[in-house]
Amino acid sequence: MSWSSPPAVGIDLGTTYSVIARLDERGTPVSLANAEGDLLTPSAVLFDGSEVVVGKEALKALAVEAECVAVFAKRDMGQRHYGKPLQGQWYPPEVIQAFVLKKLADDASRATSPFSHAVITVPAYFDEVRRKATQDAGYMAGLEVLDIINEPTAAAVAFGLQQGFLSTEGTAHRPLNLVVYDLGGGTFDVTVMRIEGGEFRTLATDGDVELGGKDWDQRLLDFAAAEFARRWGSDPRHDPNANARLWQECEEAKRTLSTRRRAAIQVLHAGQALRVEVTREQFEEQTRDLLARTEFTARQALREAGLDWGAVDRVLLVGGSTRMPMVADMLRRLCGRQPDAGISPDEAVAHGAALHAGLLLARLHGRPPRFSIRNVNSHSLGVVGTEASTQRRRTAVLIPKNTPLPVTARRVFKTQQPGQRSLAIPIVEGESRDPEACVPLGTCVISNLPPDLPARTEVEVMFRYRADGRLQVQVRIPATDIQLMQELQRENSLTQVQLDAWRLRIAGT
Ligand code: ADP
Ligand code: MG
Repeated sequence: MSWSSPPAVGIDLGTTYSVIARLDERGTPVSLANAEGDLLTPSAVLFDGSEVVVGKEALKALAVEAECVAVFAKRDMGQRHYGKPLQGQWYPPEVIQAFVLKKLADDASRATSPFSHAVITVPAYFDEVRRKATQDAGYMAGLEVLDIINEPTAAAVAFGLQQGFLSTEGTAHRPLNLVVYDLGGGTFDVTVMRIEGGEFRTLATDGDVELGGKDWDQRLLDFAAAEFARRWGSDPRHDPNANARLWQECEEAKRTLSTRRRAAIQVLHAGQALRVEVTREQFEEQTRDLLARTEFTARQALREAGLDWGAVDRVLLVGGSTRMPMVADMLRRLCGRQPDAGISPDEAVAHGAALHAGLLLARLHGRPPRFSIRNVNSHSLGVVGTEASTQRRRTAVLIPKNTPLPVTARRVFKTQQPGQRSLAIPIVEGESRDPEACVPLGTCVISNLPPDLPARTEVEVMFRYRADGRLQVQVRIPATDIQLMQELQRENSLTQVQLDAWRLRIAGT
């Protein structure tokens, strides 16, 4: 079997842009162009009557029919609905992401041999609910999701193999500490990672799901809109279409400022026009606090990993927004070394995902693995119970944050009454003792306890975090050695029936 059949495919399902890559005949990752000929596909979906359009055209439509276009759906993953109705209909965010995946897969399979298996990446900071939603998006897009891996891990694999700090077998010549700084369009992620031999271990991960290039765009937009309002007395931000058009102008200007010292923004609104000039210095001043937030988070992650900057061997720049010179400047000042920018920051994640897909396919075909990835959980997993002394609802942590995966935690619960037939255990993720401040994963319902159990019968519950960060729950009654079926009733998750209905509907588009 060669590397190319079936192709090993990796997908970076981004907040603003998505990339699909495969391994070529020699096992080297290459990004695959979409039908428009671009390597980056905007994660934008236009609902146009019965037609669904994904990518560049959908993004363009944002300026004229904002109410029909979904952007930044990744930010809403784990919620019941995408933030606004589209043509009057509320869509689950994972359905919108599924449409993006479908386009990527369809366009790619035209450029390469047909495939159904793929690895999809998620931010390291994504909790279990969002990972499940991502896997469901893959399913609805008709894909067979081989694995869900963390974006920084994927980037480290890609950088390591291409820049030679990993051997061709994917092993480190000596133990290495890496910081992966990923500033995308809508999210910021920082991950501290250690590569030892062939083992990739996440030491700490932190981030901000509400911070990305879009916030830098917004600062330019506010500046330009205020200038316009001063000149013409009306504010383009109050008209959704003018606002969307201005956002695109500002995003372009931001890109210009990454290579040039000044840029111009054209503001068109209510029949008036204004050209607003902005220099790189002004832009850096306007966004200083945003950059400082990423610096703060990076310091925090490093502290959590128990390292100082002197112990960091490499800093990897990932995400399109790291093209802004202010990012590398800040990191150089912080760690006293030049960050690595060897591979295109927008493709590294998809390339690493393709390499990981290659590894998994090789394993499926009985070849020895080139490297192994070891992951940690990014949020503490707990159950909610009542504290006996205070009668207050409290979270008891079962698996603390940053535990290497896979990991199993065992917890014994007791029935309250004789003959009790069911138990409900609320499961949460988060760092607070207060359940209200945590993210509910759902309720583990054990509804088929055998009859005639005395009160205070022990019920053992095993929570297993798999290597991909997904949760499995198993239940046993030690006294009888009965294994029980149980169900995790999720809060904001689609049912299998809904998933299958969407899978059919999306396949038909
Ligand atoms: P995501 O992973 O969030 O989908 P990407 O890593 O593709 O995003 O990064 C997208 C962001 O990068 C956008 O906000 C885009 O404006 C920004 N970006 C891309 N190229 C440049 C550039 N040359 N200068 C500044 N920002 C850029
Ligand atoms: Mg990204």
